[in-house]
Amino acid sequence: MSKFGTEFCDNFVIAEFKDDAWGEPVMGPLEPLSLHPASHVFHYASTCFEGFKAYRWPDGNPHLFRLRDHVERMRRSAASLRLPVPDADMLAGMVVDLVDREQGSIPEPPSSLYLRPTLIGTLPNIGAAASPSTEALLYVLASPVGDYFAGGVRPLKLLVEDQRSRSTETLGSTKTGGNYAAALGPTLDAKEEFGVDQVLFCPNGDVQETGAANFMLISDSEVITKPLDTSFLHGMTRASILTLAEGLGYRVNERDFTVEELLGWVGDYEAALSGTAACLTPVGTLVYHGKELSVREGDNVAKLRDALQSIQYGRSEDVHGWLTAV
Ligand SMILES: *Cc1c(COP(=O)(O)O)cnc(C)c1O
Repeated sequence: MSKFGTEFCDNFVIAEFKDDAWGEPVMGPLEPLSLHPASHVFHYASTCFEGFKAYRWPDGNPHLFRLRDHVERMRRSAASLRLPVPDADMLAGMVVDLVDREQGSIPEPPSSLYLRPTLIGTLPNIGAAASPSTEALLYVLASPVGDYFAGGVRPLKLLVEDQRSRSTETLGSTKTGGNYAAALGPTLDAKEEFGVDQVLFCPNGDVQETGAANFMLISDSEVITKPLDTSFLHGMTRASILTLAEGLGYRVNERDFTVEELLGWVGDYEAALSGTAACLTPVGTLVYHGKELSVREGDNVAKLRDALQSIQYGRSEDVHGWLTAV
């Protein structure tokens, strides 16, 4: 399969917000958009998106993971950017219709179909830096994606960055393009300078997350991760892993922690990044102030990842009601 995010299904679904109302979503062949060069999104970054997957079960039927929760997160992102907030049933319906239409394009496990709802401000006004886009487009893309772990799990190397920030206090929990733009420079610098895979952003010593994944520490009996606040993205994978960990008898400890504490714990705790694309990926090495530190290796990360993937692919019972059959 081609590289994550580069292959698309033949159809997409799109809806327009204009004159204070959403129009009917339209399903059709995926084609380029025609936008006014003054569109708000090009100048003032009025954009947000979601990312989640449909998994093919052994019976052949696709199931969407935490559809309603992703729709709600999209609505919160839209509201924080003062974009028109999509109607929840409309957006969920757009996703379900697209997955239904593209049933035949959903690859077999361990591959899946990645869904990418996207909302952009289209008001043609280059004088609207301090006013919202009152026109918008909402569309959903579908992309068949392969197994992130094809070729085996490789523990990641992270730079612990205790100065620079990934985002801002107001947009940290918004899934918006500007956050990735802000994290890109520091991440490329770190890759070049230290050969790391990602940057763990810890402004003023507060351990937050990487550019596109949440961070957690896992021992044989406990999971530690930052409690929800506005500084980081509230991952559905994070939330799901915490629920599953509790059910498996781990103590779930949501607390703020510092770089100093982190460095003291990694001999006893495994570390992992969580997100839809990579599920739960082990972290093997931290780089801090030019020195490399090994993180404990163990099987707790794999155990929690398997628990989540078993539910997603329909191999174990969906006791939490996380999946929507299409
Ligand atoms: C999307 C994202 C995550 C992971 O969220 P999931 O819902 O688990 O996929 C974490 N951090 C950032 C910055 C993200 O954009």
